[in-house]
Amino acid sequence: MHDSDCLFCKIARGQIPSRKVYEDDEFFAFHDIRPAAPIHFLIVPKAHVASMAHVTEEHAPMLGRMLTLAPRLAAQEGCNPYPEGGFRLVVNTGTEGGQEVHHLHLHVLGGPRPWARG
Ligand code: 5GP
Ligand code: ZN
Repeated sequence: MHDSDCLFCKIARGQIPSRKVYEDDEFFAFHDIRPAAPIHFLIVPKAHVASMAHVTEEHAPMLGRMLTLAPRLAAQEGCNPYPEGGFRLVVNTGTEGGQEVHHLHLHVLGGPRPWARG
């Protein structure tokens, strides 16, 4: 279920502090420590999945629920409404994909531009 050496497993279990955005039985969401936009948080499944390269058919319902959470939490955190507002969803995968933490996470970025990075 979890990997005791994994940073995001520890954050999702409350063993390392974070600024929580949302929590339910399946997901934990928290503000990115190094925000790239005025609003930048991460949604992670509580169950350890290393990356998008590791997902299989059995993960499809979880991935659907994770994506469905994004617009709800984006609005909660202050992203302006579509279409003038909106948000960006990013899943970095592997070293060449820019992934630094090897626990699947969905970046949700938003807020007025310009943004710090990208
Ligand atoms: P990745 O590059 O793997 O897609 O994104 C990892 C993200 O996790 C980065 O944006 C980084 O700022 C964030 N991050 C890394 N360590 C911590 C931490 O200890 N706490 C929080 N809240 N975010 C972290
Ligand atoms: Zn993990």
